[in-house]
Amino acid sequence: MSLLGTGILKGLGVTLKHFIATYAEDFKYIGRKAGLDPRPLRRQNPLNHGMVTIEYPRERLDLPENFRYIPFLVKDSATGEDKCTSCGICAKVCPPQCIWIVRTEDPVTKRPVPAPKEFNIDTTVCMNCGFCAEFCPFDAIKMDHQYEIASMGNRKQELLFDKDRLSVMDTYHAGIHPLDWARELEEKKAEEAKKKAAAEAKAAADAKKAAAAAAAKTAADAK
Ligand code: SF4
Ligand code: SF4
Repeated sequence: MSLLGTGILKGLGVTLKHFIATYAEDFKYIGRKAGLDPRPLRRQNPLNHGMVTIEYPRERLDLPENFRYIPFLVKDSATGEDKCTSCGICAKVCPPQCIWIVRTEDPVTKRPVPAPKEFNIDTTVCMNCGFCAEFCPFDAIKMDHQYEIASMGNRKQELLFDKDRLSVMDTYHAGIHPLDWARELEEKKAEEAKKKAAAEAKAAADAKKAAAAAAAKTAADAK
């Protein structure tokens, strides 16, 4: 689809919508002056649609769900465990290669355990593309809305986010990405239903097999 340029057309459509909304706001401003609109009597304010200039940082715009900045790691609030299995896919697909993962090792067998011992992202290099979140098969890494991470100290240290700094509970993710969270829950429910159906089908097949074996034994005994 994207080869046909539909993505570009969609993007241009959004720009056009903002452009038109900007001028539509001018008419609403007349209504505001007449006291018909409760918004502040300012031509430019954060509640306006379209292109606006706001008094940042005193004012902030509401961010759309798909806004993305630095990634964060998701912990399962039911277990308190990381969802990340340290499979390394995110590190592989990251275009500027700014993710480093160290896998946990079983202290006795020395075999790898599917959990990250270390997980680091160099936020000075991250280009906010969201590939890591898109490719993660476990919904374990998501893009954050927090964009104020400037550092006045040792930038190299402070902007190198480690596992502790990156990890948050899935309730945070649910709060800033409600649609994505609803999709995850739906998928989880569908997966559980599929597993239950498979288990029931297996139990029915096993029971049928056992009944057939019992019938065959009874027939053999009767001979
Ligand atoms: S965040 Fe996802 S893709 Fe990256 S290592 Fe963890 S499980 Fe794999
Ligand atoms: S958002 Fe892009 S650049 Fe940043 S860590 Fe993820 S894949 Fe790498």
